[in-house]
Amino acid sequence: MPDCTMMNKNGMVSKIQTRIRTDHFKSNYDLVGKELGRGKFAVVKKCVEKVTGKEHAAKFLRKRRKGEDCRMDIINEIAVLESAKANPFVVSLHEVYETATEIILVLECAAGGEIFNQCVADSDDAFTEKDVIRLARQILAGVAWLHHKNVVHLDLKPQNILLTSSHPLGDIRIVDFGLSRRTDNVKEVREILGTPEYVAPEILNYEPLSTATDMWSIGVLTYVMLTGESPFLGDNKQETFLNVSQVNVDYSQEVFQGVSSLAIDFIKSLLVKNPRHRATAEDCLKHPWLNNSHSHTHTGHAHPRLLPSMDEPETSQSESDPESESPAPSPELVIVASYTLCPGQGEMKAGRGGAFPFEEPLIQQEVIC
Ligand code: ADP
Ligand code: MG
Repeated sequence: MPDCTMMNKNGMVSKIQTRIRTDHFKSNYDLVGKELGRGKFAVVKKCVEKVTGKEHAAKFLRKRRKGEDCRMDIINEIAVLESAKANPFVVSLHEVYETATEIILVLECAAGGEIFNQCVADSDDAFTEKDVIRLARQILAGVAWLHHKNVVHLDLKPQNILLTSSHPLGDIRIVDFGLSRRTDNVKEVREILGTPEYVAPEILNYEPLSTATDMWSIGVLTYVMLTGESPFLGDNKQETFLNVSQVNVDYSQEVFQGVSSLAIDFIKSLLVKNPRHRATAEDCLKHPWLNNSHSHTHTGHAHPRLLPSMDEPETSQSESDPESESPAPSPELVIVASYTLCPGQGEMKAGRGGAFPFEEPLIQQEVIC
């Protein structure tokens, strides 16, 4: 783990160990199949290393976004991946290449795709509660490890939790550390971007961010995995934000049909407005829902209603044109602000955020703890 001297005041790590290769990526890898996915700033494609014949996932990241040099954000992403090397639930980084316009991260390929796909699948393919218990334990073990190392992910959602295989159901890999920050020795975080459905109330209120911010997202994630429904999703962003800030959650039997009350209790320990009262990853790992092998766990799945995809992949574009590798920003980029980062859930100070202004998308504000 890099020490604080390599970190700027925004919690971004600026030094990496990995050698950045400047020879041609395509001399060493063949791109195969269609793209694996795309998100805010990246296109991810399957590739095969010529020497070893091993499959990997190549994440193509543009260095310039909206006219700004974002190389340091990518370096930070690499640094977090490096620091999480020993974490079995974080995707592993194999190599890094740099061209004039892009940085390419060669990652372990999580062939099972996003858990998002199974969250919104028809009943037959959807997770059972037993599946969710196993996967939630893995997500929590991965996140507890990150939090222990003073790293917050800040973008945990079903599109950023992948599976090593889908049939049979494999293990989870946490990806996309583009928004991740170190929480130690940090005064503020600038330009945090989030996905409306998954952002914690403190993000909307410009209050300090902490490991608890990730725990809120895990509450949302678990809700989605169990019910196929997004708890705060409204008809528009304003409605979604209002639902989040009022913690307007439907725990009715209709939504949680066939799901145990322990599971609901687990979610309730996370979807708590005050971050100081939210369960930590360690607390969650001790929760009876994840530890009682003969709990009243249901093996069936409530019939999920379809969610609209936030990261809908567009059609694949030309591989030879570097300009075409990066997607247009998706509509999820909604919050741009300055935040204070607090070291941990136990040590948080009270925030000084104002009421959420129901005007976005671009908000610039500074909050000092
Ligand atoms: P962004 O920062 O643009 O959101 P991500 O790292 O989340 O980029 O990658 C975008 C999508 O690409 C993911 O949601 C996932 O579907 C796919 N993806 C990312 N990394 C991998 C990987 N290692 N293996 C397989 N698919 C991946
Ligand atoms: Mg992503």
